[in-house]
Amino acid sequence: IVATPIGNLNDMVPRAVEILQSVDLIAAEDTRHSVRLMQHFGIKTPLKAYHDHSGNDTVEYLIGKIQAGQSIALISDAGTPLISDPGYRIVDAAMSAGVKVIPIPGASAVITALSAAGLPSDRFVFEGFLPAKQQGRIKQLKALQEETRTLIFYEAPHRLLVSLQDMQTVMGDEREVVLARELTKTYETIKRAPLAEMVEWVVADSNQQRGECVLLLRGAVVEVVSELDSEARRIMDVLLDELSVKQASSLAAKITGLK
Ligand code: SAM
Repeated sequence: IVATPIGNLNDMVPRAVEILQSVDLIAAEDTRHSVRLMQHFGIKTPLKAYHDHSGNDTVEYLIGKIQAGQSIALISDAGTPLISDPGYRIVDAAMSAGVKVIPIPGASAVITALSAAGLPSDRFVFEGFLPAKQQGRIKQLKALQEETRTLIFYEAPHRLLVSLQDMQTVMGDEREVVLARELTKTYETIKRAPLAEMVEWVVADSNQQRGECVLLLRGAVVEVVSELDSEARRIMDVLLDELSVKQASSLAAKITGLK
């Protein structure tokens, strides 16, 4: 499973070039698209189209070749296969058939964007693409409203603005969003702003609606019940067993120093 660059051919790792040159066959999402990469790196290995929608025949054919002793590399148009790209079915089938699967790590837009977004990166959720229709998009965003981890979405340029607007509707004006656009390319842009401001900025500059983009949302901030609050609550509970609300709250206030 070989990762390829997401826009800048200099991001191709040497091991990926070696593997693509040495395998017997390269299964590629779009063989015409991959020709450029092959030419750039002088790779002459034959290509075969593979998509997760490819019939069982293709999967069986590829697994059969490996079982017969050949080696096959899988690439997608850009970035890491399987990450919002084809590959899951063939890896699943390979695992089931006891075929060894070796990942060759490299670029992926989700990690590239997160590494420079300035949002918490210790815990995050990758959501892939939001539904294309507004109703589905809003429903999905609502399900994520309370999510505290950083949220990461892939988005198509022609849906960037409507997605941002729906995020604003569901998450509010102030929730911070990062637009990471054209990563590793000439017009790379990484901007962080509250949703309302980001929507205005994208409306005012239609160039921002061009090219490939990743959207990252700061997770929801939940009110943390402090230790003092929970201790005060425990004291209130104990006193309420014996006293009236008035007496209990008066004593609890004296004990804790809280109102
Ligand atoms: N497998 C790829 C990966 O590892 O990132 C993702 C493939 S997915 C079909 C394509 C989406 O990835 C784009 O719509 C965009 O959201 C994101 N993407 C890919 N390249 C990008 C780049 N250079 N800058 C920003 N986003 C990118």
